[in-house]
Amino acid sequence: MGAPDTADLPWEDLSVSSSARRSHTSGWSTRMASGARRNSLRCVTTPLFTLFGVQFQRGGDRLERSLAVTTASSTGDKQAHSGNRGSPYLNLHIGATALHYGQSSCFEGLKAFAYEDGSVNMFRPDENAKRIKIKRSAERVMMPEIPIDMFVRACNYVVKDNIAYVPPYGPGGALYLRPLLFGSGPRIGLQPADEYTFIILVIPVGDYYKGGLAKPVDGLIVDDFDRAAPKGVGAAKVAGNYAADLIPNMEAKKKGFPICLYLDAATHTLVEEFSTSNFIGIDNERKRYITPASPSVLPSITNKSLQTIAKDMGMAVEQRDVAVEELAEFDEVLACGTAVVIIPIGSLTRFCQSGEEMDRFKFSEDVGETTRKLYDQVRSIQNGEVEDKHNWNFKVA
Ligand code: PLP
Repeated sequence: MGAPDTADLPWEDLSVSSSARRSHTSGWSTRMASGARRNSLRCVTTPLFTLFGVQFQRGGDRLERSLAVTTASSTGDKQAHSGNRGSPYLNLHIGATALHYGQSSCFEGLKAFAYEDGSVNMFRPDENAKRIKIKRSAERVMMPEIPIDMFVRACNYVVKDNIAYVPPYGPGGALYLRPLLFGSGPRIGLQPADEYTFIILVIPVGDYYKGGLAKPVDGLIVDDFDRAAPKGVGAAKVAGNYAADLIPNMEAKKKGFPICLYLDAATHTLVEEFSTSNFIGIDNERKRYITPASPSVLPSITNKSLQTIAKDMGMAVEQRDVAVEELAEFDEVLACGTAVVIIPIGSLTRFCQSGEEMDRFKFSEDVGETTRKLYDQVRSIQNGEVEDKHNWNFKVA
């Protein structure tokens, strides 16, 4: 490690250029310990990642948090730790439903940002908590609900425990949190597990694209595959949706398209969403922000936030069916999600079965004016640079 209270990280490679602020790190471990005792949850810090774990047992209709466990994961040095300070590997029962029946990953993704004053704030962790609980990611695959306050507290603990790894204010980095719930209890017949484990992994990340918004990228409209079946699990943040996207994604990249747009599986006439981000179309003349209302689309927290910002900017927000032909009417198209925030889309191409190009919808060649405004506003709120009038930021304490 480098300076005593500063993580020795390749900040440059993370697209951040200075070292962590000392104010982030002073005295956190003591506070962590007492907080942890009070809540009977424990966290352990390691060089790069922390896994925060809680196990649940299902008993009749009651779900009990029966055991608090913490597994620490490091850069891979198994010798470096003992006990809870273990390896980056999980000790999992061979019959765990995570391995057999898709109770493998019901997950979330959110970020914590350093402010100029040295404080660290998470962006809308309550929304992630609601998505995994109320919006039914967990319920859809018969996993237990994690109480909202516990989810937020757990995120708070993990960020505190890894405060030295929060990229400094300025160059756009963040600490990315990946809360993850999976069936750890064994079942060999098709049934939900009796035991579940909830963990949080954190990792420092830079701006997805150095300097913020990238030049618009070209997207492919996918016809040979579907991401989510009607009435399937598309609206849940579960692992299978991402497995379905692996082949189309790789094939699209080989053809020179860095991003895939999926259509509704039943008719292939309606726009759904990109592989890991929601679709937004902008009509500048009529000041409209249009996003699909499909039940198979993941309800994106970034999209929800951008909708509020768009309304604040005087735009009309329409969440409804979006026909493929309507793509021709948009001035700007963007993909949005926690990791990227916004990717401007320059064009969307659709091929016939024969391989001939069928349609090419073209949008703004440079970053569009509305895209820029939406991006700047959401990033300024995340960085604590403008008033947080909707109370989206959650101060880590
Ligand atoms: N859609 C899918 C399929 C995703 O995986 C994600 C990323 O999490 C999103 C949309 C964007 O959601 P959010 O803005 O909550 O990150």
